[in-house]
Amino acid sequence: MAADADLVVTCARLVATCAGPAPRRGTAQRQIGALADAAIAACDGHIVYVGPAADLPAHVHLHHDAVRVDAGGGLVVPGFVDPHTHAVYAGDRRDELRQRIDGATYEAVAAAGGGIASTVAATRTASVDALVTAARPRLNTMLACGTTTCEIKSGYGLTTDAEVAQLRAIAALDAAHPVDTVATFLGAHDLPPEYRWDRTGYVTLVKDEMVPRVAQERLATWCDVFCERGVFRPDEALDILQAGSRAGLRPRVHADELSASGGAYVAVAAGARSADHLVFVEAAGVRALADAGVCAVLLPSAAFYLKLGRYAPARSLIDTGVPVALGTDRNPGGGLSPSMPFAMALACFAMDMTLEEALVAATLNAAWSLDLDDRVGSLEPGKQMDAVVIDGDLIDLLRVGISAIRIVIKQGRVVIPSAAVPGDP
Ligand SMILES: [Zn+2]
Repeated sequence: MAADADLVVTCARLVATCAGPAPRRGTAQRQIGALADAAIAACDGHIVYVGPAADLPAHVHLHHDAVRVDAGGGLVVPGFVDPHTHAVYAGDRRDELRQRIDGATYEAVAAAGGGIASTVAATRTASVDALVTAARPRLNTMLACGTTTCEIKSGYGLTTDAEVAQLRAIAALDAAHPVDTVATFLGAHDLPPEYRWDRTGYVTLVKDEMVPRVAQERLATWCDVFCERGVFRPDEALDILQAGSRAGLRPRVHADELSASGGAYVAVAAGARSADHLVFVEAAGVRALADAGVCAVLLPSAAFYLKLGRYAPARSLIDTGVPVALGTDRNPGGGLSPSMPFAMALACFAMDMTLEEALVAATLNAAWSLDLDDRVGSLEPGKQMDAVVIDGDLIDLLRVGISAIRIVIKQGRVVIPSAAVPGDP
């Protein structure tokens, strides 16, 4: 019997479905499930058919007022899933990028009163409404770059009430914006100034007050910690992640971004779904992640804008069997780019990933890293109709500075092109 459909995408030279089991690791990360001359049909926001265009009439009954999307001989890929952002914040730190151009390091910027502390000061005074208003245009630009689902972290409040406000803003955005959002509690993003000399006191506050409140009010799915030299030690990070787990907040970790912090081992010990950044991960850490099945979420745009001079060892991670995902790390400091295609370009040209590996990393594996692979991350029947239509070939996605993205579909609705996309402050 033919399935009803209220949206159909035709005239695609190629559909990269990325369909199949997740996560993809090793050589399987190159499988993008390409179908030539394919069509996709959806009903009520969910895919009902992906297959040869010639077989569409036999399988699908199109409503008389169905939306018909002409892919114009281009390529269709799943909507991108961005598994690591800090897109909800107040204040403006673009000036720090200028300082970095002039040679300042991450630590030097922080020591001069910039960095996370400056965003914390601005975010603490912002209302939930103000945070939503500030973040909405950021989500608009992400959507214009093909991102249809993203993770957003708290971590700029660093008091219980301010963390809760940030998480409420994330929930409000999820309800009001086409991009679906997933919330991560990151109370352990930094030591706030009032606890600078009382590390134990702050770790206790995170564990005993913030975590229970966030869990009780169901404000986050995940709990994250910035495990880094000068921030949280591995033992503190593990302590916080375990408290989160006990309360039902699942662990993920900022690991080995600026130094070999031991974050990969924390991720393994905590049973984390992902270890993120990994610029300085050691070979033994790579093996430990592979053995434990932890996803590596790599954020090359952050390494680029922070001028770290190196990138995560993506080749070794994939070849050792670690599933690799990509994210933007959109944030007020070094996270200037909201673009998953830019992250893919860096993955290919700075981290030696193949184009196919980068696509799977930006879609199916990213979805798996958020445990959303049953709903998004690939184009297959039953999943959400989140798709991106590209002018040209897959390689055209990597053309930095000009977008190859022509159409973005979210839950069966064409959301780009839209009437207007306001700028990204
Ligand atoms: Zn981050």
